[in-house]
Amino acid sequence: MSLVVQKYGGSSVADAESVKRVARRIVETKKAGHDVVVVVSAMGDTTDDLMDLAQQVTPLPPARELDMLLTAGERISMAVLAMAIANLGYSALSFTGSQAGVITDEAHGKARIIDITPGRITKALAEGHIAIVAGFQGVSQTTKNITTLGRGGSDTTAVALAAAMSADVCEIYTDVDGVFTADPRIVPAARHISRISTEEMLELAANGAKILHLRCVEYARRYQIPIHVRSSFSAKEGTIITDQPAAAGDLGTTNCQLHQDSEEGVTVEAPIISGVAHDRSEAKITVVGVPDRPGYAAKIFATVAEAEANVDMIVQNVSSVETGCTDISFTLPRNEGDRVVKALDKARDTLGFVSLQFDDHVGKLSLVGAGMRTNPGVSAKLFQALSDADINIEMISTSEIRISVVTSDDQLDDAVRAVHTAFGLDSSEGEAVVYGGTGR
Ligand code: ADP
Ligand code: ASP
Ligand code: MG
Repeated sequence: MSLVVQKYGGSSVADAESVKRVARRIVETKKAGHDVVVVVSAMGDTTDDLMDLAQQVTPLPPARELDMLLTAGERISMAVLAMAIANLGYSALSFTGSQAGVITDEAHGKARIIDITPGRITKALAEGHIAIVAGFQGVSQTTKNITTLGRGGSDTTAVALAAAMSADVCEIYTDVDGVFTADPRIVPAARHISRISTEEMLELAANGAKILHLRCVEYARRYQIPIHVRSSFSAKEGTIITDQPAAAGDLGTTNCQLHQDSEEGVTVEAPIISGVAHDRSEAKITVVGVPDRPGYAAKIFATVAEAEANVDMIVQNVSSVETGCTDISFTLPRNEGDRVVKALDKARDTLGFVSLQFDDHVGKLSLVGAGMRTNPGVSAKLFQALSDADINIEMISTSEIRISVVTSDDQLDDAVRAVHTAFGLDSSEGEAVVYGGTGR
């Protein structure tokens, strides 16, 4: 007998019929002789609807109360799912994050899991029940308040529980057939990926591919939990995220271009480019007319850090000879933009700049692939593809296995499609299926 953790996302449990369908799937796993722990998200767009509700009451909801409100979404789905399983003649017990022992720090809206004490879940399994856990939530170790893990956080609940309980596998059920070379909602020709390393998946998730919550991939990597992403609407095999080498005949050993790992001298199965991610959640701030002398960048970013903002890309222009001044642009999460503009403006005299520009109509495209390390010419090809599509690049940044560019947001979708085609990623096997969800 093995222990399986299954996570069902919001679009998989969007209405009563979907809940019943998911309940049948869970019961099938139980019937096959496995212990089953299920992590469930809020039904459909419930979390967004609850956010909208809070906004209608106040523009600045207190963080503690917002978390209390949002966690209600998962509470509804876990109870309804347990009922649907009971209706099939099996016993399921639902648990809130707090009851399941998901202990976090006290940061409302972006809490990090610091411990998992799943005693009640273990007991429920030992008594023959299926355990249903509300995703995306926990309880603070210090304040004892209810916290949330950030949007998309149910994936992290699932992988963290799988790690804490030494599960054999963590299955993430969603509304597409696994991880694709781009978001199928934007690139219908996106190609299905059967197997991908945690390193590449981390880059894709960190750069906007919301198929998986970034921290769930970090967890999976640290504790070596294989993740299996698949659709709850089909029986297709999905995507395995793992660093274990594939055995012959394993899921994911086909459809790969081989490339040579020069240091090891062995051939590893990995495509040169694994995919194109996009992110529409950032904004760009330009600090115009900064004195081009040592210390000014340090002062600017100290102010940004004090405002507790997470900076992503940074670009400094060449200094103008006449003025001896330069412009510094950086990107950050859009919802932190207002706070940072205010903080910089307040410190204007000490920072010595001329003016501030705030642009929230930007998008980021990221090309990701482990094969970039050993294959020259990837950036040249990327820039050519964008140029052919008449797309202007505003900023560029790179890592060992990623190149990112910022464009205007209305050109982002075209940019993603152009780059996807240019790198030969388009599938010849028909369009990728999106089974549900609103893409919200
Ligand atoms: P869930 O509600 O199941 O958690 P999400 O909406 O959070 O689902 O994530 C699934 C969505 O992720 C897909 O519907 C798809 O639009 C989007 N997505 C973005 N990038 C990718 C990608 N590379 N492969 C597959 N899906 C992706
Ligand atoms: N319901 C939460 C959200 O919409 C968590 C999740 O779905 O993972 O962000
Ligand atoms: Mg999700």
